[in-house]
Parts: sequence; C-alpha cells; structure tokens
Amino acid sequence: AVDAPSQLFIDGEHVDALSGERFAAVNPATGETITEVALGGAADIDAAVDSARTAFEDGRWANLAPRDRGQVLIKLAGCIEDNAEELQLLETLDVGKPIRYSRRVDVAQTVNTYAWYGEAADKLYGEIAPTGPHALGMITKEPIGVVGAVTPWNFPMMMNSWKLAPALMAGNSVVLKPAEQSPLTALRIGELALEAGIPPGVLNVVPGYGETAGRALGRHPFVDGITFTGSTEVGKLFLEYSAKSNMKRVSAETGGKTPNIIFADAPDLDFAIGAVGFSIFWNTGEMCIAGSRLLVERPIYDQVVERVGEVADSWAPGNPLDPKTKAGPVVDDTQLQKIIGYIERGTEEGARLVTGGSRVLTETGGYFVEPTVFADVRNDMTIAREEIFGPVLSIIPFDTQQEALEIANDTRYGLSAAVWTSNLARAHTMAAGL
Ligand code: NAD
Repeated sequence: AVDAPSQLFIDGEHVDALSGERFAAVNPATGETITEVALGGAADIDAAVDSARTAFEDGRWANLAPRDRGQVLIKLAGCIEDNAEELQLLETLDVGKPIRYSRRVDVAQTVNTYAWYGEAADKLYGEIAPTGPHALGMITKEPIGVVGAVTPWNFPMMMNSWKLAPALMAGNSVVLKPAEQSPLTALRIGELALEAGIPPGVLNVVPGYGETAGRALGRHPFVDGITFTGSTEVGKLFLEYSAKSNMKRVSAETGGKTPNIIFADAPDLDFAIGAVGFSIFWNTGEMCIAGSRLLVERPIYDQVVERVGEVADSWAPGNPLDPKTKAGPVVDDTQLQKIIGYIERGTEEGARLVTGGSRVLTETGGYFVEPTVFADVRNDMTIAREEIFGPVLSIIPFDTQQEALEIANDTRYGLSAAVWTSNLARAHTMAAGL
C-alpha cells in the first residue's frame, strides 16, 4: 500500500478543490485507481495565483539573498534523496515507468537538478552596458514574478524540476499544474519543498485538466510567465492565451519526430543499432526526442531492418514493479488507443510491419503495447509525419547524403536529430544542415 497525496497544495496547505470534485489517478499497469485526487479548476488556480502573488510581493522568498535561496534548494535535493523510495514508487505507480529507471533516472536527475540550481543561485552576475561617460547602464537579473508551470506526464518529477528549480532559484513564486495523468510526485514534492524551507505560497501545486486549470493559468492576468512542456498544439495555445491576456512571457518545449540517420560507414553498427532501440523503445517511446524515424543508407538497409527488429523484441513490456523490466505500459487508455490507431494507419498506408503491432498483456488490465517496427516507410506516410509518442519506429531508406538531409528536414518538428558516420566532414555538414 502506498500513501499517495490527494489534495491540492496551495499556500502551504493541503486543500480540496473549491468545487469538491475529484479525479482518479490510475495505475496504467493494472487499470486500477491508486487514489482520487482533488480536481483543480479555474477557481483553484485563482487561489493559487493569489497566494503566489502575495508571497512574491512581500518578498518572503524573492528578497532572500541568492545564497540563502540556493541553500534551501540544496536542502530540498536532500529531502528528495531521503524520500527516494517513496517517490520512485509513486512515479512508477502513476505513469508505469519501470522501477529500475524511476530510481536511477527520475529520482536521481531530480535531485541533481535542484542541487545544481541551488549551487548556481549565487553565481549569476549582471552586466554593465558600454555607455558614454555621463551614463550608467546596469543590466540586473530580476525574478519575473509569478510563474505558471504546465508539464507533461512522460518524466513528471524530472520535467517539473527543470521548471521549478530555475524559477525558484531566481526568486519567483510558482503555480505548478502537472499533467492530469501524473499528479502524485508533483504534490509530494510540494510538501517536501515546504519541509526544506521554501515559504508557504512560493510553490503551489494544482492538478487539474488542461482545458480548465491549464487554460486558466495561461490566461491569468496576474501570471507573469509560463513555462510549458507538452504537445505542439497546446504550446501554440499558450502563445494565444498570452496574446489574449497580458502578453506574459511563454517558453514552450514541444513535440518531435527525430530522425536517426545511419550511413553505411557508421563506425560501430552494433552500437548504433542498440542506440536506435534505446532511443525509440526506452520509456515506451514516450519521449519528445524519441528517435521515431530511422533513415538508413541503402547498402546496409536490409541488414539494419532485420537487426532493429531483433532489438525491438528485447524491449517487450512487463510489470514495471519488477526490477528486471525495461519497458512498462503506456500512460493511459487514451494514449494506447492513439498508438494502436497509428499502427493501423501505417499498415493501411502500405508500410511493412517487421515486428510488434499489437496490444499485449490485456489480462493485467494495463495498457501495454508491443515494440513495433515498420520498414519501407515513405516520409509522407502518417506514421512518419505525426508524433506517435509510443514505441513505434518508422524505417526509411535513402541513397544519397542530400536525400537523407531532405527527408530528415521534411517535418514540421525540429527538436533533435542524430547522425551515424565515420566521415567527419559529413558529420559536420549534416549537423549544420539538420
Ligand atoms: P499535452 O500538450 O497534452 O499536455 C501537456 C500539459 O498541457 C498538461 O499539463 C496538460 O494538462 C496541459 N494542457 C492540455 N491541454 C491544454 C489546454 N487546452 N490548455 C492549457 N493546458 C493544456 O502533452 P502530453 O500528452 O502531456 O505530453 C506529450 C507531449 O509533450 C508530446 O508532444 C511531447 O513531445 C511533448 N514533450 C516535449 C518535451 C520537450 O522538452 N520538448 C519533453 C517532454 C514532452
């Protein structure tokens, strides 16, 4: 049994939603409800922003010496470390992440992030502008005010730390709206932050749906900045919310369709193929930088297709609580249906299914999909164009370097890319062109 947090965290207090509504936090490995969490809505976002604004204005955090804020963040890193076992379990239950990674990756990186920003807090300098003799132009770094953080569910604790740690380090107050699929570790970190010495009101956590709570935060007139990670569609909405409200600053990290490009002269093909498997099947492919398109030079194409198929099979999903499991379920039924829909579309549009393609382990009640590989994909097929956000790889052959570059760049995304070659000039030309 796990004692999962289930109330909103506003002004340093655990509170129910003003509407009294709740929603189920579901374990994707079993389909069972872990706990019912208070469902934050627009009114709760208002309360959280009020609290954050008051905390910011009275300077209880913003006016501390940077070093003192830094020390608190370092203490928070320690509290997270002390509660590692509980946090890794909450993350695994909430989003189905294999337990071996939720400790080694998610908890470890979250600890590192808070510690890193804590250490950096008193090392940010301003500048003096090169003015004439009768003027002095000083550029100082100031907190923005109230920052709204809206995050996805694929690396909940880590992704939250990438937003909270820098915002808090700089003296801002924050309202975090985690993804509705992953409220648990966000709420727990809110409590630990208070324990570590972050004053009440400086960090508020309001789980809720995007269209209500997320939108209310994006449109709030007293929120000064939004830091968002999630889909491209919703990233665009935040720019719109900003334009239609107070022109708050928006930073958005959004989707991807990463090309992994293997030339016939790749120095170590075994290593490259292993990395290809990791880049699309780790975290069940639920990664913005997942290598979802594999471009392979024709002379090694058949060989690579066959070997990638074998590597895929080694990522068969299993119980995420088993320390041997490398891949768990996908996050929920919606995501499962979306992935299966794309797989069907791939077959309909004429791609060749090399391995996988089905939902598995249905007897568990969980949302498990086989690692899936399509070969002979054309870049204009849906599976090569849209972000699937699941363990589905599209392999596309190419004949020349120029063609590889054109295919790779023919996408509406631009997040990341990889090139495998032993030709240094080609590596640089490709990197510059991508
Ligand atoms: P999503 O865009 O559906 O949701 C992200 C967040 O936005 C959630 O908190 C959600 O509640 C909120 N949201 C949804 N609709 C909203 C609306 N209408 N108004 C306001 N807020 C709204 O994305 P997701 O499914 O949670 O995550 C997967 C996506 O995130 C993928 O596209 C992936 O590539 C992207 N992602 C990007 C990065 C990166 O660093 N670039 C990292 C991880 C994930």
